[in-house]
Amino acid sequence: MSGNEARVQAIYQIANKEAMPPKAPEPLAKMWAENVFNLSKMQASLPKAVFKSVKKTIVTGEKLDPSVADAVATAMKDWAMSKGALYYAHVFYPMTNLTAEKHDGFISVQSDGTAISEFAGKVLVQGEPDGSSFPNGGIRGTFEARGYTAWDVTSPAYVMETDNGATLCIPTVFVSWTGEALDKKVPLLRSIAAMDKAASKVLKLLGYTDVAHVNSSCGAEQEYFLVDANFASQRPDLLLAGRTLFGKAPAKGQQFDDHYFGAIPERVQVFMQDVEETMYKLGIPAKTRHNEVAPGQFELAPFFEAANVASDHQQLTMTILKHTAKKHGFVCLLHEKPFAGINGSGKHVNWSVGNSTQGNLLDPGDSPHENAQFLVFCGAVIRGVHKYGPLMRAAIATASNDHRLGANEAPPAIMSVYLGSQLEEVFEQIKTGSVTDSKHKGVMDLGIDVLPPLSKDPGDRNRTSPFAFTGNRFEFRAVGSNQSVSGPLVVLNTMLADSLEWIGNRLESELAGSDLNTAILTVLKEVMEAHGSVVFGGDGYSAEWHRMAVEERGLLNLPTTADALPYLKAEFVEDLFKKTGVLTPVELESRFEVYAEQYILSIDVEAKLVISMAKTTIYPAAIEYLSKLSATMSSLTSMGITLEKDTAQKIADLANSMMAVTDKLGAAIEKHDFASTEEHMQYCATTIRPLMDEVREYADALEGLVADSFWPLPTYQEMLFIK
Ligand code: ADP
Ligand code: MG
Repeated sequence: MSGNEARVQAIYQIANKEAMPPKAPEPLAKMWAENVFNLSKMQASLPKAVFKSVKKTIVTGEKLDPSVADAVATAMKDWAMSKGALYYAHVFYPMTNLTAEKHDGFISVQSDGTAISEFAGKVLVQGEPDGSSFPNGGIRGTFEARGYTAWDVTSPAYVMETDNGATLCIPTVFVSWTGEALDKKVPLLRSIAAMDKAASKVLKLLGYTDVAHVNSSCGAEQEYFLVDANFASQRPDLLLAGRTLFGKAPAKGQQFDDHYFGAIPERVQVFMQDVEETMYKLGIPAKTRHNEVAPGQFELAPFFEAANVASDHQQLTMTILKHTAKKHGFVCLLHEKPFAGINGSGKHVNWSVGNSTQGNLLDPGDSPHENAQFLVFCGAVIRGVHKYGPLMRAAIATASNDHRLGANEAPPAIMSVYLGSQLEEVFEQIKTGSVTDSKHKGVMDLGIDVLPPLSKDPGDRNRTSPFAFTGNRFEFRAVGSNQSVSGPLVVLNTMLADSLEWIGNRLESELAGSDLNTAILTVLKEVMEAHGSVVFGGDGYSAEWHRMAVEERGLLNLPTTADALPYLKAEFVEDLFKKTGVLTPVELESRFEVYAEQYILSIDVEAKLVISMAKTTIYPAAIEYLSKLSATMSSLTSMGITLEKDTAQKIADLANSMMAVTDKLGAAIEKHDFASTEEHMQYCATTIRPLMDEVREYADALEGLVADSFWPLPTYQEMLFIK
């Protein structure tokens, strides 16, 4: 079957495809957390004293008492086996944004040759997955490649059901034998501890005596595309790179041609229902909805949870989306820009901090005291974004997210804070110290006055800001759809820890000579004077902002990963992580190495794909059509009819040009002598990527000239609109 025949066959198959029959929905109360070994299941199966000890560990994040581990392990195993699990897996989160698992059986063969099921406390608490092939950025030499996984008690174990059976999954941290963090979970837990410490101190200075453990919360909105698996399997670029490296944009009028539309809602809806059901069983609070931004693009948003659990759940969500899509004959694309010229996918990380005694600390509240507390925490965030903007940018820097950031539908690569007009005005007043000419209620005397109610209307939100206050939380909108949310959360928690530490110290010394309100205002005024330039409420897409941000406000515009990642090595970033205890310099350096390598490798893979697709798929299609054209032209000539040779000439020119640039790209990827990783990244960004784009331009122009019946790749129009 020629490429084109396969494509045409796929169109017919998909157009006639029925949705999978929807399952009769089970009651939510029955499904909810059915597959999670949560507190209530522990309470039901553990002796009272053991349960109390575990519960304390979960709430405080302390180490599990080894003397209770055996009892917990046995109860967990019995529960998992009652759900059909014969295996358990330590699940961990290497630096690659992926989720990794090592499976082991519960089986234990006895000296008399019989087998029993066994799961000891020490196996629950610590595993040894070898894992020497996970990138570690040079932390582990191969001779000491051993890494350990250890149960993160704050994230509950669960049973994962797949077609191949059920497995007990235990979320774990992954550390080297010398104790260095090799994963994304350890830094996250440390960043929460650092933030808790600094926040508690500030809350006490604000007059609270009862201050519970402060945690950070996260609700991550996931965007994704669905493409029929029949099409995806014919696109090597989608299969290997997760995005299309070629493809002409569909004409506007054709975009809304509902010829193929019939089955979309049904198939996708059944898919979504299936996703939700799996999520509910795993205790992930999903709420699904359609996203209308791009054809074939959807969104899934959960209710927020504690950051650590939310992060594990987010990883699970991505896995569930991919697995479920397969079951329904789709491929789920989590890439940030699967289709050029069409909106990309992000992951809005909604983030806040709070505890059980003072509640959400980024909620303005409605009493003067709550207002003051809110302004202190909000001021701390502003200071953090200004001081560590480049680090925030580095935390979302990947080869794939570069296609989205700074593009017209996505947040710019300049980090700024959007507060909304009312709150912006409040902070402006704090900065200038003037109360009198406020349009809204005065706020300077925090002991008496109350903040005006801040608008929580989504319509009021600035969609062009990478980091926006949305009523009771901040929304980091520039995070990539493919990413683990841990990295961004680590940065947000850590920079907040640093700011709160600074504010705490300043408040302490101010309080020696003045009352609380005066002290707060003095400190916030200092914050705004030094860092207020990061607050921006205007159009983040505009050229004027790109100029003003850099020239007048001294903010950094870091358009590519090659520009952003080196900030991981900057002294102020190293200092931040060192003093908060979140990452040692060695751990930080290893992260730079891993992320840089990922960037370079993924561009290398894409470049090789561009070359092979141009040479072996697109060029042959053009030539085949050309030979058909020339045969037709000569037979017409013999009949005395002349066909203009313009089209043939154009195709030949484009094909030649495409091959010339392809050769240039082939030569370019042969270069290996770089003075540094930084130089290599810049080379990828400024030499390889533009050459790939150039090949694509010729190829896409060819797609517009070669007869459709000769074109071997499923087109944008087909992939986006036929479901
Ligand atoms: P919108 O769709 O307008 O952005 P939603 O109410 O759907 O608003 O919220 C988006 C996300 O923000 C959800 O995942 C929600 O759980 C999360 N969210 C709400 N409050 C908080 C909070 N305090 N901390 C973290 N995330 C939150
Ligand atoms: Mg949102």
